[in-house]
Amino acid sequence: MSSANPLPPSSSSGAQPSGPAEFALPLDRLIGKASATSLEKHLGLTTVGELLNYFPRRYLNRGELTPIDKIPVNEDVTIMARVLSVTKRRMRERKGFITDVVVTDDTGALAGLKISFFNGFKAEKELQPRALALFSGKVTLYNHARTLTNPLFELLPDDELAGHEAEFHAQRPLPVYSATAKLPSWKIQRVVETVLAAVDFSRLRDPLPLGIVRREKFVDLEEAYRQIHAPSEPADWQRARDRFRYQEALVLQTALVRRRAQTAAEEATARRGTADGLLAAFDAALPFTLTPGQQSVGDVLAAELSVDHPMNRLLQGEVGSGKTVVALRAMLQVIDSGGQAALLAPTEVLAAQHYQSIRAILGPLAADGILGGLLSGAGGDAPGGVNGDVPASTQVTLLTGSMPAAARKRALLDAASGTAGIIIGTHALLSDNVRFFDLGLIVVDEQHRFGVEQRDVLRNKAHKPPHLLVMTATPIPRTVAMTVFGDLEMSVLRELPAGRAPISTHQVGLVENPGWVRRIWSRAREEIDAGHQVYVVCPKIGDDSDDSDDSDGDDGGYDGSVGDGSGYGSGGVGGAGPLLSAASTGQQGASADQGNPAGRPAGASRPDLAEVNTVVEQLRTEPALAGARIEALHGRLDTEDKADTMAAFVAGDVDVLVSTTVIEVGVDVHNATMMVILDADRFGISQLHQLRGRVGRGGLPGTCLLVTALEPPHPSRRRLDAVAATTDGFVLSQEDLKLRREGDILGASQSGGRSTLRLLRVLAHEDIIARAREDAAEIVRKDPQLRENSALEAAIEAYLNPEKEAFLERG
Ligand code: ADP
Ligand code: MG
Repeated sequence: MSSANPLPPSSSSGAQPSGPAEFALPLDRLIGKASATSLEKHLGLTTVGELLNYFPRRYLNRGELTPIDKIPVNEDVTIMARVLSVTKRRMRERKGFITDVVVTDDTGALAGLKISFFNGFKAEKELQPRALALFSGKVTLYNHARTLTNPLFELLPDDELAGHEAEFHAQRPLPVYSATAKLPSWKIQRVVETVLAAVDFSRLRDPLPLGIVRREKFVDLEEAYRQIHAPSEPADWQRARDRFRYQEALVLQTALVRRRAQTAAEEATARRGTADGLLAAFDAALPFTLTPGQQSVGDVLAAELSVDHPMNRLLQGEVGSGKTVVALRAMLQVIDSGGQAALLAPTEVLAAQHYQSIRAILGPLAADGILGGLLSGAGGDAPGGVNGDVPASTQVTLLTGSMPAAARKRALLDAASGTAGIIIGTHALLSDNVRFFDLGLIVVDEQHRFGVEQRDVLRNKAHKPPHLLVMTATPIPRTVAMTVFGDLEMSVLRELPAGRAPISTHQVGLVENPGWVRRIWSRAREEIDAGHQVYVVCPKIGDDSDDSDDSDGDDGGYDGSVGDGSGYGSGGVGGAGPLLSAASTGQQGASADQGNPAGRPAGASRPDLAEVNTVVEQLRTEPALAGARIEALHGRLDTEDKADTMAAFVAGDVDVLVSTTVIEVGVDVHNATMMVILDADRFGISQLHQLRGRVGRGGLPGTCLLVTALEPPHPSRRRLDAVAATTDGFVLSQEDLKLRREGDILGASQSGGRSTLRLLRVLAHEDIIARAREDAAEIVRKDPQLRENSALEAAIEAYLNPEKEAFLERG
């Protein structure tokens, strides 16, 4: 998904107070230097507000001990357990002793968990059999047994104590904070209690409007803070959590709705087009009829381009639904009105492909080089003749970072002089030296690689705010769209053009069917013999840097790298052996994946993942493919080689294209009918869906083989099941969300730092987000400047710009 925060840092330097003074107090005023230093060092918390907004991650009930067999290995955990036995032994090699404490979860599990303390004087003294305690540390596997070594611990008041106090204690949920090895949860809890007692909550202003608090029957803000940190019963923290969750949704949605209102209110140049311009000529020559969806979205765009406020629209569409034509028609309308259009693509390969296919589909409407530019510029130096002349053609220009200097200079000149009507490029379009004569429309293709900041850089290259059309690569769930693209209006292309042949997708598990390797290549042979072409996709390039393909000229970091940054790892140790040799059924280390259901990165990558360079060599000697023309494509090739290879594949001069995910988005070769994805388990669902969308485009049925060397029960194979089961991108995007971790959904910048979603989960809380969206729209409609909602405004500022917030607090 998006690679960036849904909203850019606010640029307003408004001097309004950024929150209640009480919350801005430095922590050391309330809790003493040592604790404050520790909180800052380990958790980065410096103010009262930051600490109080550091919510417990979960709660323990004193009656329920942590199930020992569910404790994840190699993660920092806090567990509640009862001591079963304590024994002491001498160390053999060194001086000193070890105290072995065995704890149980009261489930009668025989083994219990072994905890070892080196020189554990304190443990030996305090941990008596039957004692109840919290332990905090990392559980490791030692000789196949779970062990906790030198954890921090804290005794809990024993629930077996007689008396009123014990009963009271027994009910209170125990908050568990995300802790570190040096700062256990219970220390954080104690500091929070001190702070709760000292804060003057009466000075706190609630970001939630009173009407909403009443309607939703939320607890008030003070109570919410108390209940989330120090609940008396489970219902307390649940109520508090509900209110903070809603608050989070409202702050985010109001920020987005306000941004949308602000940009929509800006003044733009209306681009009404002409009745007898390029667009009309294009439509007349179009070799197919537009789908009803393309037609109606086209009407919406045409109308929005025609008014003097900027269009800001997201176009979601199924893979292959024909978004490019829709965008191109909008571009032509703008050119017909004397403006230029920029098309921003995430990779060089895609930019080059767009350049070629747009020129091809424009046919004679695309002016060629300088000559065409001169011809079309007959009415002046602006594209399409600003003087009211109807242009006969427009120049399409490509601009990427790794173009030869001379060509690049020409492209820059054509953009700045207005000779070029359509400028297609990568991130290179964002650089400072790129100027436009009159940029009227920005189209961002396959948006998930671009953040709002980048959109803004381009917007600022226009004299007046330009119109904006953003297109997603695959459909995304409604609430994700609302959250990630919440500042844009939304259009959806659901249907595919008629006559599309189906793609059949099969999972090829080499563990179960080692012999199938051969059959894959004989299938490929059949396609080639029928005159068709084949893609083979590998997760790695296989040069000495031994890395996934994360560089594509100037697009560093944004190119289709493995797992689009979500780090899908197989986690298997032991390796499966080279995927392509028939005997590749090595043992997968399934045990290492327990507690790793979503298939998260496993640190060291699996050896022997399919690599472009190796696979090319192997396929060239593969008997079934004898005589086939096989070429490699990946981001580290130089631009010319990339372009040559891609052009040769488009021309049908290459039978098998072995590549990385550089072909993931947008590439459109109608004659390609088969795709073999090696180590398919390394890719995410939407990535696989997007990849497979490269075949079956020309009315010829497509076949996609998802090859994996993982054991059938491996969790990563669930993604392959999902992709094989349906070609409905909307279904897959839901499925994808379920299998992913939240941080991956909103991109890297959302998973760390303070402006992450904390309580809100875009999939689970769809209704909350939708309700907050409605409330936000209502609030902004009635009070666009948020004058009546200054506490909400302050919360938005704090959300958008935590650094500034921190600065003001310290200042
Ligand atoms: P995507 O939405 O995935 O970007 P493209 O814009 O690349 O899809 O379109 C896929 C292919 O379908 C292109 O070759 C395009 O020319 C073709 N196409 C687009 N619209 C139609 C249509 N209405 N009828 C037939 N083919 C179409
Ligand atoms: Mg596309």
